[in-house]
Amino acid sequence: MTLTATAPATAVDTHCPYCALQCGMSLTPRPGETQVTPRDFPANAGGLCQKGWTSAALLTSPARLTTPLVRVDGELRPSTWDTALDLIARKLTEIQAAHGKDAAAVFGGGGLTNEKAYLLGKFARVALRTSQIDYNGRFCMSSAAAAGNKAFGIDRGLPFPLTDLAEADAVLLVGANPAETMPPFVQHLRGATDAGGLIVVDPRRTPTAEQASLHLAPAPGTDLALALGILHAVVADGLFNWSYVDTRTRGFDAVWRIVARWWPERVERITGVAAADQRRVAAKLARARNAYVLTARGTEQHASGADTVSAWINLALALGLPGRKGSGFGCLTGQGNGQGGREHGQKADQLPGYRKIDDPAAREHVANIWGVEPDELPGPGRSAYELLDALGTEDGPRALLVFGSNVVVSAPRAAHVAERLSTLDLLVVADLVLSETAALADVVLPVTQWAEEEGTMTNLEGRILLRRQAIRPPAGVRTDLEVLNGLAIRLGQPADRFPVDAETVFTELRAASRGGLADYSGISYERLRAGEALHWPVPAETHPGTPRLFLDRFAHADGRARFVPVDHVGPAEPPDAEFPLQATTGRVLQHYQSGAQTRRIEELSDAVPEAYVEVHPDTAARRGLADGDRARIASRRGETTARVRCVPTMRPDLVFLPFHFPGDQRANLLTNPALDPTSRMPEFKVCAVNLSTVDGDS
Ligand code: SF4
Repeated sequence: MTLTATAPATAVDTHCPYCALQCGMSLTPRPGETQVTPRDFPANAGGLCQKGWTSAALLTSPARLTTPLVRVDGELRPSTWDTALDLIARKLTEIQAAHGKDAAAVFGGGGLTNEKAYLLGKFARVALRTSQIDYNGRFCMSSAAAAGNKAFGIDRGLPFPLTDLAEADAVLLVGANPAETMPPFVQHLRGATDAGGLIVVDPRRTPTAEQASLHLAPAPGTDLALALGILHAVVADGLFNWSYVDTRTRGFDAVWRIVARWWPERVERITGVAAADQRRVAAKLARARNAYVLTARGTEQHASGADTVSAWINLALALGLPGRKGSGFGCLTGQGNGQGGREHGQKADQLPGYRKIDDPAAREHVANIWGVEPDELPGPGRSAYELLDALGTEDGPRALLVFGSNVVVSAPRAAHVAERLSTLDLLVVADLVLSETAALADVVLPVTQWAEEEGTMTNLEGRILLRRQAIRPPAGVRTDLEVLNGLAIRLGQPADRFPVDAETVFTELRAASRGGLADYSGISYERLRAGEALHWPVPAETHPGTPRLFLDRFAHADGRARFVPVDHVGPAEPPDAEFPLQATTGRVLQHYQSGAQTRRIEELSDAVPEAYVEVHPDTAARRGLADGDRARIASRRGETTARVRCVPTMRPDLVFLPFHFPGDQRANLLTNPALDPTSRMPEFKVCAVNLSTVDGDS
């Protein structure tokens, strides 16, 4: 199979390279450029955001890497593929011989296709025999996944099609800002907006909060308490759905023992949200004909993130929403393949099909597909931050292969992560551009991007999509699948165990996922090419897919959902005299994740060229800062600089920083790697900081 031989020359229907909405678009190759045309696909209904419109610019960017780079005498120098792959394989073999199999580690990404995520997991477990693999999705959706598994017995971000949202007259959005991060999504909220039923919970008055009929702005890190207060109001005000709870759930009594202590007035003292508003939310949701509770990163990225999501699920269950057609609970996935990327084996504790790596039956099934003995498969490894933190330590990995991730910008406590990377004997990065992480590597491998290759993605509603190849890749680059194949062969594996053709990999993935929670076995490229709307599970080729989960039963053995008792604990790092403010981080419309792609697109980088910090004008003035000044923001982990934006709607105790910028503008120089005990997700969303002028003290 060669990409260049099959590249079409006419308009090709595909999907945007960025977020989990996976908007439909057509790409038309033209001399020197590729034209983007929005497509009428259910997720975007013909809409695209600015990132989607400009996405083709990266295909012809001068920043594009087209030759492998190898570090010689401290400098990255052009090399050949054979030299680069030979070097990597030799060093991996030496390092593992000297320090054991777990001395080699792999770090993946939530933007990789299903085929890449699957083959990366197989490469780690079979070619490297290492347990040390995780991915940046751990930073993104793992708390929602943990809470969904506990409550429903399965983790699919939205267990219903996006278009169902349009019928709702009440939607509670918690810690989500889709008007900025995925604008075409907002059209699905029109029913709730028109009915005056859009409620937004966010410490900031975001563009999404601006559209809401009710905006609740709790103190950062207190939204678990807010969920307890609203649930208390549901019960106290007679809005509780007794028949649903009796017939479809278990465990409410243990939840009530905690919730009984969180009456709205007490919650008001912690969150700052008026008790009357808590009661209004309870009434709006309970009295709506159709209602949804939706959460996102603002809920999850806490050291108690999984519990916080559980608290909102408890509320939804008490109202009888999940599993009722036209109502429900869901989590909005962020990264393009954040859903599929966590189903097929690049997560430290997982095998394909959303199987657990410590489950003997799962190990036997997958080992059989892979042609190895179950005992040869390693066990669970470290989670993403723990893996990065362990690099170069006595027991930690000494070599790291990074695919589709830019951890120097996106990981918490970023300076420490960069320092850990610098201790490695071998750092390899596969990327399309020289990202900040690639710039530190010993070997950089230039790889294809979305429009230059074929593969499947699973969008935020669990629908599997085919991304078609639209253009020829530049000479000199290879696909990630080809990279894994080239390395596997050099590590002594048979070539056909690591196919380079995406459809062949998908055929194997189907078999590996058969019988698992995320069962793709009935999905084929043929069905996807025919335009079928296939939401997993799809357990047979004749199966129509499962757009709506839970209508008859939840995925626990007894078919019932579980209430999970959780209590408020607050942020891991409360403000104090030295660091009196709280910082939160997030995305802006024009940039995506670490900005490795979007900062290299002129229209986007011109629109938002540098980091900024949103701050209340009084908070800024007290520190001698005015709009447009450069500010220094410091935490216990480090400090960063950003341009001041005075925003009168900001809470005076809070600053906001976008996390897309490199160097000394990295928001993640500040963030706290305190981890959720279940999901191992870091507390990106709140840490204690100090704000000052660049030269002075606050
Ligand atoms: Fe759609 Fe997301 Fe792409 Fe914007 S970034 S066009 S919302 S898929």
